[in-house]
Amino acid sequence: MSLKDISLTTTKIREFLNRLAGYEGCQYHGIEWRCGGPQFTYAKKIMFLMKIPKAEQEKFLELCKEYGGYCDCEMIIRRVLLQFI
Ligand SMILES: [Zn+2]
Repeated sequence: MSLKDISLTTTKIREFLNRLAGYEGCQYHGIEWRCGGPQFTYAKKIMFLMKIPKAEQEKFLELCKEYGGYCDCEMIIRRVLLQFI
């Protein structure tokens, strides 16, 4: 799978990663950050809030795993998808 297989734009992916790092997600810049683990709890929550269709969410998470992001915080730390854009 590659970025071409998903319909999310670069802008959307940036918005997603920023929100995932923010107060709605891992609170990465807070005192204590959190991670939803391999269930992608926060990633799924934010994709839901962004109204990304379910099928698209699943493809996106698959792609993240292929790029080495196996949990919420790894997606942020690695900014897994953006390094290829
Ligand atoms: Zn994590």
